[in-house]
Amino acid sequence: MVDADQTFVIVGGGLAGAKAAETLRAEGFTGRVILIGDERDHPYERPPLSKGYLLGKEDRDSVYVHEPSWYAQADVELHLGQTVVAIDRAAHTVRLGDGTVVRYDKLLLATGAEPRRLDVPGTGLAGVHHLRRLAHADRLRHVLAALGRDNGHLVIAGAGWIGLEVAAAAREYGAEVTVVEPEPTPLHAVLGPEVGQMFTDLHAEHGVRFHFGARLTEITGQDGMVLAARTDDGEEHPAHDVLAAIGAAPRTALAESAGLALVDRAEGGGVAVDASLRTSDPDIYAAGDVAAVGHPLFGTRLRVEHWANALNGGPAAARAMLGQDVTYDRVPYFFSDQYDVGLEYSGWAPPGTYDQVVVRGDAGKREFIAFWLREGQVLAGMNVNVWDVTETVQTLIRTAAHPDPEALADPTRPLESLLP
Ligand SMILES: Cc1cc2nc3c(=O)[nH]c(=O)nc-3n(C[C@H](O)[C@H](O)[C@H](O)COP(=O)(O)OP(=O)(O)OC[C@H]3O[C@@H](n4cnc5c(N)ncnc54)[C@H](O)[C@@H]3O)c2cc1C
Repeated sequence: MVDADQTFVIVGGGLAGAKAAETLRAEGFTGRVILIGDERDHPYERPPLSKGYLLGKEDRDSVYVHEPSWYAQADVELHLGQTVVAIDRAAHTVRLGDGTVVRYDKLLLATGAEPRRLDVPGTGLAGVHHLRRLAHADRLRHVLAALGRDNGHLVIAGAGWIGLEVAAAAREYGAEVTVVEPEPTPLHAVLGPEVGQMFTDLHAEHGVRFHFGARLTEITGQDGMVLAARTDDGEEHPAHDVLAAIGAAPRTALAESAGLALVDRAEGGGVAVDASLRTSDPDIYAAGDVAAVGHPLFGTRLRVEHWANALNGGPAAARAMLGQDVTYDRVPYFFSDQYDVGLEYSGWAPPGTYDQVVVRGDAGKREFIAFWLREGQVLAGMNVNVWDVTETVQTLIRTAAHPDPEALADPTRPLESLLP
C-alpha cells in the first residue's frame, strides 16, 4: 500500500523522469514527489536538438516536456541544477552535490546517457563539439550558421542517427560536411548494410562526403582552433569544427557506487532491471536510456536509447513504484528526420540476428517499408516516407508473424492481411 506519507524521489530531469512524475500524480499518488536534475533547464525532449531546434525552425518553448508552471501545480518538487552524488540504500537516502540529504521510500533512476568522448589528441580544441544538451544545440546552431556563411568544413565522427541528422542540418546551413565512419555503411550496427546504403545515397545527393572504413585519430589545430581531422588510413580532412557523434554511454556511476546490478558494456551496459523496471534493490527502479530490461520478445536484455522508451518507460516505472503489476515489453521504436525523409523503425534486428531483408515499395523513391526477418519471422520494420503503418508493423513483430516474403514485398497486398 502506498500512503500519503511516502516520498518518491526521481533522479534525472529528462523525459523519463518528468513523465514518471506526471504518472505518479495521474495515478493518484498523494505523497511527496521530488524530481532532481543536474541541468538548469526544465525537463525537455532531445529529438529537436538535432532537427528543428538545431535548424532554428522550432523555438525553445516547444521542447519542454511540461510548462514550467506544471511542476508547482502538480506539487512536484523540482530541484534543477542539482546532482545526486550518492545513494545510501540502507538509510533510504540520496545525497546531493551541495550536501543535502533526501529520504526516499522509492527511488527512480532516470539518469539517461552521455555522449561518448573521442579518445584522440586534439579533443580539447574549441571547435570540437558533442550534442546532448540544449546548451550544446545552442552552440552548434551558431557554429553551423557560421560555417554555412563562410563555406566552412564540419567533420562528423560517426554515421549514427545523431551524426546523420546533424549532417543534414549542416548541409541546410550550407556547411561543407565530411562524415568519418569505421563501418562500411551508415547506421551499420542498427540496420546492417542493406538499408544503410540508402542513407549513403541520400546524404551524398545532398553533398555530404563519407569516409567509410576509417577512424579519426587526431584533430589538429592552431591557436586553439581546429584545422583538420586525421584518420587512421593517413588521410587528412580540412575541418573548422568537429562533431563527435560516436554514441552515448549510460550514466550508471550512481547505480554502480550504490552496488546495484549493472549490465556489461559489451552487452550494451546500463542498470539491470526486471520486466517491472525494478533494479536489484526492490525499492529502486530505473527507466529510459539508463535501464537495460530483459525483453521477452527478443529473448535478450535491451537498453533502448530512444525517445519512445523514455516516454513510456518513465510512466511504467512509476506505476510499478505504486505497486501495480507492470510488464514493460513494448516493441522498441524510434523515428528520424533527414532532409525530406521521415522514418520510423520498430523492433530490434542488428546484424547477426536476421537472415533476410524484404523491401516493400520503392526504395529508389525512398517510399518503402523494410523488414528484417529471421527464418521467416519478422524481427523489425522501418517505414520510410510511408505513414500510419507502425501499429501493423509492431503487431507483425509482437505476434512473431511469418508472412510469405513475396506477399510482404508486394505493396498491393494490404499489410493487415499478413497478420497471423
Ligand atoms: C540530439 C539528440 C537527438 C535525438 N533524436 C532522437 C530521435 O529522433 N528519435 C528518438 O527516438 N530518440 C532520439 N534521441 C534519444 C532520446 O532523446 C533519448 O532516448 C531520451 O532523451 C532519453 O531520455 P531519458 O530521460 O532516459 O534521459 P535523458 O534525456 O538523458 O535525461 C536524463 C537527465 O538526468 C540528468 N542526470 C544524470 N545523472 C544525474 C544525477 N546524478 N543527478 C541529477 N541529474 C542527473 C541528466 O543530466 C539529464 O538531464 C535523441 C537524443 C539526442 C541527444
